[in-house]
Amino acid sequence: VKVTAIAGGTGAAKLLRGLAACLAPRDLTVIGNTGDDAEVWGLYVSPDLDTITYALAGRLDTARGWGLAGDTFRCLGAMAELGAETWFNLGDRDLATHLARTAALGAGAPLSIVTADIARSLGVDARVLPMSDDPVRTRIRVAGATAAGDDWLTFQEYFVREKALVEVLEVAYAGAPRARPAPGVVEAIAEAELIVICPSNPVTSIGPVLAVPGIPAALTAARAPIVGVSPIVSGTAVSGPAAQLMRVRGIPVSPVGVAQAYAPWLGVLLIDSGDRACVPGLLAQGVTPVLTEILMPDHEREVALARRVLEAPGV
Ligand code: GDP
Repeated sequence: VKVTAIAGGTGAAKLLRGLAACLAPRDLTVIGNTGDDAEVWGLYVSPDLDTITYALAGRLDTARGWGLAGDTFRCLGAMAELGAETWFNLGDRDLATHLARTAALGAGAPLSIVTADIARSLGVDARVLPMSDDPVRTRIRVAGATAAGDDWLTFQEYFVREKALVEVLEVAYAGAPRARPAPGVVEAIAEAELIVICPSNPVTSIGPVLAVPGIPAALTAARAPIVGVSPIVSGTAVSGPAAQLMRVRGIPVSPVGVAQAYAPWLGVLLIDSGDRACVPGLLAQGVTPVLTEILMPDHEREVALARRVLEAPGV
């Protein structure tokens, strides 16, 4: 079956590794969030695309959930000596990705081509697409003055520098109204036999993808069943600030809220067996719940969950 997955970073990486183990690599297309993309030391860093690519290449540092396994941080140390800002950690081998990407973008290549080239170089046969070649940036408005005195933060300033500890008032996707889906994105949604919404932050990982004009319409028009995996288990996020950000958006911090964020096109949602109480709320929204084990602490469970996704009702 031809699968198109919409993905953020760490949560998505686990399910994608599982899917890659069950599918022919060419049958998997991943549409990645670029709302977290950032400029660090003049380099273009694309955390979610890199996490996806490294995961599919078998090179992701699975303990951290980002960066390359076995990487070193000597350049980071040297930058600190030079007085540069070093709250955003970049590994030495990882830096090569950002250097190559920045050079290619500077020479005029679109992000979609650069992303495909990096994936190919790392031996990834699945297709990795950015949601858009145009800049879309998640911005977080926080209460009170932060250390740097600004109240609209970039996603990385909020998540990494402030460790998501500040009170969030508002989330925006700068540039989204003018962004176009990257070449191949709408086609990958239209031609898929199964569309998977990875267990990713609905506000800052899937939200920016859905903010690109044309993508929600493509999902609504898609022939394929659309199956999601909840990033929320028993009223809280498995990791990261999804719960806080869903609250800011006024959506319930539960699988029902996840389904609400993906209305009207979500068909099936895999939820944790302990979240049985959410079944009526999901059915009321026209979403078919599948109760199963949705935590992926090891590769075996990544593959098991991927199998459940591939066996979902209607697939
Ligand atoms: P990031 O926020 O950019 O790192 O990327 P994601 O949005 O993909 O990852 C964070 C989301 O994944 C959070 O909302 C987590 O709750 C979710 N998540 C992480 N690990 C797991 C897991 O093993 N199972 C499920 N169901 N969700 C997970």
